[in-house]
Amino acid sequence: MSEQTITGSCVCGAVRYAATPPFFAFQYCHCTRCRKASGTAHATNLFVKTAQFHWVAGEDNVQRFDLPTAKYWSHTFCKTCGSSTPWLSRTGKAVIIPAGTLDDDPGMAPERNIFFASRASWYAHAADLETFDESPPRS
Ligand SMILES: [Zn+2]
Ligand SMILES: [Zn+2]
Repeated sequence: MSEQTITGSCVCGAVRYAATPPFFAFQYCHCTRCRKASGTAHATNLFVKTAQFHWVAGEDNVQRFDLPTAKYWSHTFCKTCGSSTPWLSRTGKAVIIPAGTLDDDPGMAPERNIFFASRASWYAHAADLETFDESPPRS
């Protein structure tokens, strides 16, 4: 592996992968599907060409769901711990990496919000929120 390789894993460690930059997109997706699948305000996904990605462990422990009514949307997760995992795009040209699964710094920050018109009614910009380095003090 080159020094540039970025690694990632699920919470339980069964699924591990490596990707080599450059990534060609890094974005928040606020669509309803991504909100439901992630359980949070938006998905945060990195995109890399398929040849720049490989599984290190646990590819057979990944469960895939391709939404039948969607052209592109898919969701994958570790069968053991339920963490989101990377998935091959339906075109086969790219691998989409949920950025929260990264173990290393990808060397770039998210560049854009997509499907922002579909954002949750309760969405708030993270920078506008009261912030603590760890748990907030008990009141
Ligand atoms: Zn896992
Ligand atoms: Zn989405």
